[in-house]
Amino acid sequence: MPGMSAAVTSWLDVPTDSPFPVQNLPYGVFSYDGEAPRVGVAIGDHLLDLAPLAAAAGLDGGHVFQAPTLNPFLALGRPAWSAVRSWLTELLTHTAQRALVEGHLLPACEVTMHLPFEVADYVDFYSSRHHAENVGRIFRPDSEPLSPNWPHMPLGYHGRAGTVVVSGTPIVRPSGQRKAPGEPAATYGPCLRLDIEAEVGFVVGASSRRGERVPTSAFREHVFGACLVNDWSARDIQAWEYVPLGPFLGKSFATSVSPWVLPLDALEAARVASPAQEPAVLDYLRDDGYGGLDLSLEVRCNGTVVSRPPFASMYWTPAQQLAHLTGNGASLRTGDLYASGTVSGPERTQRGSFLELSWNGAEPVTLDDGSTRTFLEDGDEVSISAWAPGADGSRIGFGSVTGRVFPAR
Ligand code: CA
Repeated sequence: MPGMSAAVTSWLDVPTDSPFPVQNLPYGVFSYDGEAPRVGVAIGDHLLDLAPLAAAAGLDGGHVFQAPTLNPFLALGRPAWSAVRSWLTELLTHTAQRALVEGHLLPACEVTMHLPFEVADYVDFYSSRHHAENVGRIFRPDSEPLSPNWPHMPLGYHGRAGTVVVSGTPIVRPSGQRKAPGEPAATYGPCLRLDIEAEVGFVVGASSRRGERVPTSAFREHVFGACLVNDWSARDIQAWEYVPLGPFLGKSFATSVSPWVLPLDALEAARVASPAQEPAVLDYLRDDGYGGLDLSLEVRCNGTVVSRPPFASMYWTPAQQLAHLTGNGASLRTGDLYASGTVSGPERTQRGSFLELSWNGAEPVTLDDGSTRTFLEDGDEVSISAWAPGADGSRIGFGSVTGRVFPAR
């Protein structure tokens, strides 16, 4: 009997080390052979072309998959997300469906991936206690590492939605104004301390009405899924500009996201209790049970693994972040993206930025080719990937978000 105790498997041959077994089924937007971009789902080494498959199968509402973004599908809400996922699982696991599906599988290596969703608003949080404490110790060595408000709410800022780009997009070194503490005057020029931040992003599907809060208990109703985020950061520009209004041009030049968005349904087996929160949070931030996610991130620079940040160590949960960002009645729009903040664990090898890995340049990181890095050089390629426990004892992956640094213009 399928689904009784044995793991669900696909009739399609999925390599055992693939991040995309049938328990995953992440969504993205692709183009193939010069045709218009449209929605696809990753399965093993293949991509399932959803628009013609939905048409062939007579799936109600299947036209949403012809769109060049996931947004029309995201706007349908959780009942539709769940129904499509069940439909896809049935198609890919029942041999009787093979003839219908097979003609709509494309080799993943032959498609071009695009930005998966049109980003409405973009918010970036600061929810790793280890990261916040490291940054506090580096920039404010004479005061408490955490600001007094940090343990009371998930701090964040509004970023620039229009510069969110898909993995693989070249990252041109930004220029800007900076003034190091010892320098006599401010100068304008190419960033000297270009950095990454390894983060996890949450993608809003179902909108909310202005003036209405979204409680933690409504997290799954509004949030469709998760992707990987690299919040590229110009530390010299950031350090000079951030007082008193926070991150601005040191962040807004580019934010990279993975081409695949994993549905929350695929991440059910990855749910874990989040770390204990002390002091107790206010009622509107009480997480009614969604908790954290056991995601294992890996950061590579030019192929060398420089860090393995554990997402399960994050202090604030995605449901708390959502409740906080709507706590004033701000409404959600389909395509809103909110990122976790840099994921850093307690160990040195678990830090999600070069700022922390090199302790602001004092302790260079050695790469496999023998070269060292404090911050990024032109030509460097950074790739962030992540894995999670999936259903049936499987292991599912996010793929990766990759970007190469190009010289300032
Ligand atoms: Ca960030």
